[in-house]
Amino acid sequence: MSTDITFDITKVAQSRIDQVDLDDPGFGRLFSDHMLEVSYNEGEWQQPKIKPYGTIEVVPALNVFHYAQSVFEGTKAYYVDDETVNLFRIGQNYERFVQSCKRMCIPPVDREVFLGGIEKLIEIDHRWVPRKEGNVLYIRPFACAFDPVISANPAEEYRFFVITSPVGSYYNKSVKLTTSKRYVRAVKGGVGAAKAAGNYAASFYPARKAQEMGYDQVLWLDAHEHTYIEEVGTMNIFFIIDGVLVTPKLQGTILPGITRDSVLRLANHWEIPVEERRINIEEVIEAGQSGKLEEVFGTGTAAVIAPVEEIHHDGISVIPKEKDRGPVGQKLYDTIYDIQRSRIEDPFNWVRS
Ligand code: PMP
Repeated sequence: MSTDITFDITKVAQSRIDQVDLDDPGFGRLFSDHMLEVSYNEGEWQQPKIKPYGTIEVVPALNVFHYAQSVFEGTKAYYVDDETVNLFRIGQNYERFVQSCKRMCIPPVDREVFLGGIEKLIEIDHRWVPRKEGNVLYIRPFACAFDPVISANPAEEYRFFVITSPVGSYYNKSVKLTTSKRYVRAVKGGVGAAKAAGNYAASFYPARKAQEMGYDQVLWLDAHEHTYIEEVGTMNIFFIIDGVLVTPKLQGTILPGITRDSVLRLANHWEIPVEERRINIEEVIEAGQSGKLEEVFGTGTAAVIAPVEEIHHDGISVIPKEKDRGPVGQKLYDTIYDIQRSRIEDPFNWVRS
């Protein structure tokens, strides 16, 4: 991309790349040599800096610790060959980031800083993009309040960071979901559609309860009638009922997933019947009981398509016909996976390298 932004770059004296195993990096504990850091003060974002990944010094009063005025994004870089590393629909991540920032009263950085910063970081740390099949460089942009003040107000200072982390391939085992009678993820008028840090903190306790009952994650229902399906942990949810691909409509309480949008676009492209609408959990239970529930899968950057093998609701469990990825889920997975790595045509221009 053409950018007029200049980055103030300080490189590491000695790279850590020779001390790490990119074939087996685990998830989220290993970070590349460099990070992007931009400060916001006196009403504007300052000169972006790329510097060695490392500790930052903060005071305990830092308001983000107390009030969670913080948003993040998640995307990946894919190794193609020695000259090429791909990014997938990164402009969508920026758009969502801006929406999240607005909702959390955080001034968003400019598009050129967000996109150009990620590109620059990857250029500098390209050796950190794993080559092993399935492994990728996870990219985590985030912005947070940075006032050393414990008053419950929007901050006057912010910090934007991008850190990157080589990660192993996501093991695609089928997941078991349960609804929760007691807990909800988001309410109308709340922050469910924002990638706000506090949404995740709030989901940990119900998720742990679900795990204690033997399920992997909670299938969230709406907060008002407690009957319409919303999404799962860090994924959107899709059902194939009697040949129709159905997913909950975005109505302000669901995170607008980029994989969700990609799945909808591909399904339309392939002329698979698609419905974005309200889905009652009872409808899914009935479809399961009458044999019309063909496939169920979650969609997200981490797994792309994660098959769901069981849905539990109010004492009843249903199992879709396909317990692993079914034909539609598999075709979606293969197509998105291959587009991300430039192995097939990219009809929607989703990839930039
Ligand atoms: N819902 C939630 C709550 C999430 O955290 C994520 C992951 N970003 C998703 C859905 C899926 O979004 P995406 O396809 O953009 O990764």
